[in-house]
Amino acid sequence: MSNLNNQIALVTGAGRGIGQAIASKLAGAGADIAAVDLKVEFCAETCEKVRALGRRAWAYGADVSKAAAVDETVEKVLADCGRVDILVNNAGITKDTLLMRMSEADWDAVLSINLKGTFLFTKALTRSFVKQRSGRIINIASVIGLVGNAGQCNYAASKAGVIGLTKSVARELASRGITCNAIAPGFIETSMTAVLGDDVRQKLLAQIPLGRLGSPDDVANAALFLASDQAAYITGQVLTVDGGMVM
Ligand code: NAD
Repeated sequence: MSNLNNQIALVTGAGRGIGQAIASKLAGAGADIAAVDLKVEFCAETCEKVRALGRRAWAYGADVSKAAAVDETVEKVLADCGRVDILVNNAGITKDTLLMRMSEADWDAVLSINLKGTFLFTKALTRSFVKQRSGRIINIASVIGLVGNAGQCNYAASKAGVIGLTKSVARELASRGITCNAIAPGFIETSMTAVLGDDVRQKLLAQIPLGRLGSPDDVANAALFLASDQAAYITGQVLTVDGGMVM
């Protein structure tokens, strides 16, 4: 069993889906949770779940793509919680359409939230990680960042960017006792994939050797591992959680 007793984990996009599952999983292993989502009220359900597990939870509203909001949030978190041990950059969006129809706004929104948001939170917490000489950074990428996807040029570029950022941060901060890894989920049952039609879903299932879409908990288990002592010697890696879709 992983033991995260008395550690503080900051999770972005914690209000629902994969972020909520990660917050609950880390809390189940003993961590207290700083939950960040676009609006503070989006964090209410997650905070309730964390408290029901006997852990402390704090809620913050911030747009991860805005530097001032990120810096202010990190300042508040450090004041409220004293420290952060684990950062999970999970907030993300899609704005899918074919390249020829993709607007500059579709491109900018996805890159700003998925990639720049990960950069901003990582940068904002690096000083305190360096001071502590410890820290775990876990970035939620996607298999789409590894293999691309028609209709997702912006999303694929943002997630490939997250993978490059992960490896660079891992190299830059390794000597300070900080690890940085990415998880690349495949297709996971959340509101992000609820919009897929039955025909798309059937085609996807045919490409997944394990024969089912993933659950948010499948991704949260990988996050728990990367946050744990058992992953102390792992950095700069991309852990694919996709039922064998990409191998
Ligand atoms: P979701 O839409 O259910 O949840 C995303 C959360 O992020 C929401 O709570 C939302 O409010 C929050 N968020 C969105 N924009 C934000 C912003 N600007 N600032 C702060 N918070 C913001 O999605 P999910 O499926 O749980 O996805 C979580 C992460 O996992 C994303 O990075 C996504 O790209 C990645 N992912 C998901 C899948 C999948 O199949 N669901 C697959 C691969 C990767």
